[in-house]
Amino acid sequence: MGKRTAAIAAAALSVAPPDIAIPLLEDALPRLESSRDHQRVAAHAIARLKDDEPLTEWAISDNPTLRLVAAERLPDTVGGKLNPLLCQLTRDTDSYVAIAAVRSVADARTPAAVEQLRSVAAARREEWTCLHCGSPNPGTADHCAECHIAPPNPAKTAREMLAELTVRS
Ligand SMILES: [Zn+2]
Repeated sequence: MGKRTAAIAAAALSVAPPDIAIPLLEDALPRLESSRDHQRVAAHAIARLKDDEPLTEWAISDNPTLRLVAAERLPDTVGGKLNPLLCQLTRDTDSYVAIAAVRSVADARTPAAVEQLRSVAAARREEWTCLHCGSPNPGTADHCAECHIAPPNPAKTAREMLAELTVRS
C-alpha cells in the first residue's frame, strides 16, 4: 500500500462509524510496522476515534511510532501543570519522539515549559552513529564528519523553541 493510499484509507475510516473503523484500524496497526509513516497515520486515526484514550498507554509503549503519536497528540498541560508524560518523552531515546515532545511542551508557554526546554537544551548528547553512512561521531558534533548530514537533535529544537518563546514574551 502506498503512503497516499494508506493516508486516504485512514482518513476515510476516521469518519466511518467507530464500531466499524476501530477494529479495522487496530487490526491493521501491527501489520504496518514496516512503515513508520503508515503506522503513524493509522495510530492518529485510532486516537482520534477513541478521544485520545490510548495515548497514556502509547506514551510508555516499546513502539517508537506510538510514542511519537503520543508526543504529537497529548495535551501540553494536565490540571494546570505541564503534562508529565510529555516531559518524559522530551528525553526519549528516539530523537524524533523527543523533538515532537519538545514542540508540544513549548506550546504550553508556561514558566514550567521554559524550564523543561532549558533542561533539554542543556542535556549532553552521547556519542552518536550516523544513520546515513554509519560513521561514529562525538556528542558535540552537530553534523556527521563524514557525510555532513545533520541528524535530528532534540537539544537544538529546544534551543530554537526557547528563542521563540523569549522573543514573544
Ligand atoms: Zn554520515
